[in-house]
Amino acid sequence: MAVPPAKNTSLPSMSADQPSLFQSADLLPEGKSVAEPQGNGMRVARVMLEETALELDYLIPEELSAKIQPGTRVHVPLQNRRGTAVVLQLLDESPYGNRLKPISSTVGSRPMFTPSLLKLAQWTAQYYLSPVHQVLRAMLPEAVRSKPETFLSDSHLTLVQPPTADALQKLHKNAPIQARIIDILQSRGGEATLSQLRQQLPSATQAVHALVKKNILSRSEVRVERDPFQDEEFLPSAPLVMTEEQQAAFEKILQCLDSTEPSKPMLLHGVTGSGKTEIYLQTIAHVLTQGKTALVLVPEISLTPQTIERFKSRFSERKERIAVLHSHLSQGERHDEWFKIHENRTDIVIGARSAIFAPLQNLGLIVVDEEHEPSYKQDENPRYNARDLAIVRAMLEKCSCLLGSATPSLETWQNARSGKYTHLHLTRRTDHKNMPLVRVVDMRLEKRRQKDGVAILSEKLRVAIQKRLDQGEQTILFLNRRGFNTAVSCMECGSSVKCPECDIPFTYHKAENRLICHVCGMRSMPPKRCPECKSASLIYGGFGTERAEATLKITFPTARIARVDTDVMQRKNQLRDTLRDFRSQKTDILIGTQMIAKGLDFPNVTLVGVLNADLSLNLPDYRAAERTFQLLTQVAGRAGRGDIMGEVLIQTFAPHSPAIQYARRADYDGYAEQELEHRQHFGPYPPHTHAVLIGSRSKQASLAEFTLQNLATKLKKSLPEGIILHDPCPSPLAKAHGQYRFQMLLLADKIRPLLAHLKNVLSSMTFPEEVIVTWDIDPVSLM
Ligand SMILES: [Zn+2]
Ligand SMILES: [Zn+2]
Repeated sequence: MAVPPAKNTSLPSMSADQPSLFQSADLLPEGKSVAEPQGNGMRVARVMLEETALELDYLIPEELSAKIQPGTRVHVPLQNRRGTAVVLQLLDESPYGNRLKPISSTVGSRPMFTPSLLKLAQWTAQYYLSPVHQVLRAMLPEAVRSKPETFLSDSHLTLVQPPTADALQKLHKNAPIQARIIDILQSRGGEATLSQLRQQLPSATQAVHALVKKNILSRSEVRVERDPFQDEEFLPSAPLVMTEEQQAAFEKILQCLDSTEPSKPMLLHGVTGSGKTEIYLQTIAHVLTQGKTALVLVPEISLTPQTIERFKSRFSERKERIAVLHSHLSQGERHDEWFKIHENRTDIVIGARSAIFAPLQNLGLIVVDEEHEPSYKQDENPRYNARDLAIVRAMLEKCSCLLGSATPSLETWQNARSGKYTHLHLTRRTDHKNMPLVRVVDMRLEKRRQKDGVAILSEKLRVAIQKRLDQGEQTILFLNRRGFNTAVSCMECGSSVKCPECDIPFTYHKAENRLICHVCGMRSMPPKRCPECKSASLIYGGFGTERAEATLKITFPTARIARVDTDVMQRKNQLRDTLRDFRSQKTDILIGTQMIAKGLDFPNVTLVGVLNADLSLNLPDYRAAERTFQLLTQVAGRAGRGDIMGEVLIQTFAPHSPAIQYARRADYDGYAEQELEHRQHFGPYPPHTHAVLIGSRSKQASLAEFTLQNLATKLKKSLPEGIILHDPCPSPLAKAHGQYRFQMLLLADKIRPLLAHLKNVLSSMTFPEEVIVTWDIDPVSLM
C-alpha cells in the first residue's frame, strides 16, 4: 500500500520503465541508431547520463562485470568524449544489439546508490516533475560526486628491529633525527603515525625513509578521517526515566516497530518540553538492538552542537558509528562522513534536509523532528520536501517513520486525525510544570500612549523585564527582523527608499551606517534626499533587532544585554559563546531573531517577550497564520523551563487574530480546527487540496508575464476536472535580484491528474531563453 505524503490521493507510479521527463536527444552515441534485438548471453547496462535525463544502453565488459550493479557510477563513451552515468538496470538484451559500445570504467569501488535510493530517485523525479538526473545529482554531496574516495592518508610506523644500545648511540652522533625517531617510537610502545612524529620532529620524513630502508621501521598507509567532532568530548549519559505519558507513547511506538504489518507513519505530537527527544533516543536504542540503523532529520537551525552531543553522549559506546551531515561541514568532512555511511560503518545518521538521501542500509527507523518546519523543503530543483520523502523512503525500505512536533503541519495533523498516521500525544511537560502564562499586549493602545511614534517596548513588557532584573532572573526577547530601521521613507511624496534590484524597502543598519537589502544583500549609502522627489525630509521608521537592543540599553542602563542575529553572529563559535554566557547567567537579556526561537533550554528564563507578532501574520500567504501560531508556540516554550513559573508577553496590533489567541491558550487542536475550516472556506487551500505554484522570472517584466500567461492558456485547455487555476499575477516579492517575478497557483483535489497534465503541457513547450520558469509541487511558501 502506497502512503501518500500529504493527502489522501494516489501517487504517480514508480515503474522504472516510464520515460524520464524532458528527455533530450542531442547526446546519442553512435551505437544507438539501429534497433536490432539480441538475446543469448549479452550483458547490458541501462544507464542514465548525469548531465541529461537520457537513458542509454552499454555493454558490460567481462572484466567489469563483477563491479557493475544498479546504482554503480560509470564512465561511458559518448560521441567523441566521455560521460559519467549511473547504472539503472542490468539487462540480458538490448534493442540496439551488438552495436552497443562497452562501458569504459567504474567510478568508486562500490555502487553509490542502493536499490531503494534508486527507487526513491524515480519517485522524487515523477512527483516533483524534476528530471531524474537532477535528482540523482542532488542525492550525492558535491565532494562525493566530484572527488569520490579521495581520503586523506597517513603512514603508520612500527619499530620492527630496534637497534642495540651501542648502535643507537652511534646513530645519535651520525644521524640524530633518526635516533630521535627511535626514541620517540620506543616511548610510545613502538608505534606512531608519521603526522604524530612530525608534531615533535617537523623534519622527520626523510629520516623515516632511511629507517624503513634499513628495515628498522615498517610502514603502512592508513586512511585518516576528517572528523568534525575530533576535539569534542562526550560524557556518557544514561536513559532518563520517562513520565507515564512518555512511556505510553514509547510502548505504542515499539508495538508499531515490532509489528509484522507494514507500519503506518507515526506522529509524536507533544507540547514543548514534553520530552520528545528522549523518546527518539530510546526508540533508536531499540532499533539498534535489532541490528538495524536509524536516520534522524533535524531542521538545519536546530542542528546545534547540543543536539549532536545529546546523541553522541547517549550512544557513547558507539559514538564512532554516528555520522552527521549538514551544511556547516567542510567539503572534506562531508565526503568522509558520507563514505563512513556508505561503507556501513554507521548506525545512526543525524542530518538536515539532504540527509534524507544518506546511503544507510538496513534502515529500521526514520525520525523527522519538527516535521512542520518549512526548511525541510528544498528551494531549488528538485524541490522536494524531506519530510514527505521520509515517508516515501520508509515505505520503500519497509521501515518505520516517526514525525515529531509541538505544532504539526496541518497536512500531518489531518492524516493523524483520519487514522492514516498513528497519533501519539504528549500533553504535559516532563517536569510536570504548567505551561507558561501567556498574555497579549494590544499595541494599538500603547501607540496612543507613547509620544514618539514607534512603540518598541510596551509599558507592560518594560515592567515585566524590570521585575526579572530585580529578581536576578533572565529574559528572552524575540523579534524576527534584523537591522535598525526597517524603512526610510519620504514625508513629501510618501515613497520609501527601495533596493533598485528588488522590489522591497531597504533596511537601515546603524552600526555600518548602510542601507542593506535583505533579499539580495546590496549595500548602499543612506541618501540625503529622496530619490523620487529630491526632498530632504526623509524619516527613518520601523525597528529591527539592532534598534530594539539600543532601546533596551537606554531603558535598562545597568542590564547586561546580548543580541543574536546574523549581523552580529559572524565569528565562528560566537553563537555558541553568547548562548553559553547566557546560560551561565553572565547576561540578563537575550534579544534575537528566529535563531533563538528553537530548542534552547535555559532554566533561569522566566520571561519571554515577542516584540512584534504581526510580522509573519501579515505575509500574503495562506500559511501566514499557521507560521505565526507555530512561531509563537515555539517561542513561548522557552519560558519557565526551571523551577519558577514562566510568563510570556506577546505584543501585537492584531490581538484578536485566531493565531495569536489560540497560541495564548496553547490550544493546538482548537487552532487547527479553526484553520482547517478557514482554508476550506477560501481556496480551498491545502491540506484540503494539493497546490502547485508556477513561477516565471526575467529581467524583462513583460516577457516574464507573457510567458506565464501563455502557459496558463495552454494549461486551461483540456484542464482535468477538479483543478482550479488562478490567473498569473506579480509575485508578492515582485522583483528580486534584478528580475521581475510572476506566479500562478493551481489547486487540485487530486494531485495525480494535475501532475500528468502539467507534465504534458510543460514538455510540449519551449520557453524564451531570457525567462526562467519554475514549478513547485506542495509549496511551503507563496513568496
Ligand atoms: Zn520624496
Ligand atoms: Zn535587493
